[in-house]
Amino acid sequence: MAKQAGRARRADDDAPIPLKRRRRRPDREAAEAAVRTLIEWAGDDPAREGLVGTPDRVVRSYEEFFRGYETDPVELLQRTFDEINGYDEMVVLKDIRFESHCEHHMAPIIGKAHIAYLPNRRVVGISKLARLVEVYAKRLQIQEKMTSQIAGTLSDVLQPKGVAVVIEAAHQCMTTRGIHKPGVSMVTSSMLGAFRDDPTTRREFLAMIGTPGSHGLENV
Ligand SMILES: [Zn+2]
Repeated sequence: MAKQAGRARRADDDAPIPLKRRRRRPDREAAEAAVRTLIEWAGDDPAREGLVGTPDRVVRSYEEFFRGYETDPVELLQRTFDEINGYDEMVVLKDIRFESHCEHHMAPIIGKAHIAYLPNRRVVGISKLARLVEVYAKRLQIQEKMTSQIAGTLSDVLQPKGVAVVIEAAHQCMTTRGIHKPGVSMVTSSMLGAFRDDPTTRREFLAMIGTPGSHGLENV
């Protein structure tokens, strides 16, 4: 008995620590103090009437901007449907609007994602595709990474014949600071399986989503 318990304890010690526990998260008070520091750094007085409630509001905004860390994207896609009546055509969800933040400046990235996959017996509810974009968008991101994370997760979980993800987005770190270039959008894509190997499949998808860059991101 005692030996067994000892073994169990050792096994626990060796077990990988879940990501959520490994990341030490400061408490709310520390986060609000950090915002007060940034207000002072900007040159204003955090005790001024209009700014007194700001740290609390900023921290609550952050909970919303970065809530993607709370959801496991693989778990999100777990519920799939096997009964697809032989449907083996492309599934496309286009113009999925998202808001993210660049990991270099923590400035907003606002854009649209277009996702397609070629089912291989399993499909997933389309709202889950939009949620998948959301889970990765609500983190500190770079657009290239987000594009391949979405494609890679879909590919791993659904094991489809192919996955295509195109993202077009405006980066406010480029439009409101630095080189100040409004109206510029960045387009990234990740093509896997049939979308990479078969030009006809890729063309069909690109025709369905229209010309990237023509989706009116100029106003964001
Ligand atoms: Zn940036």
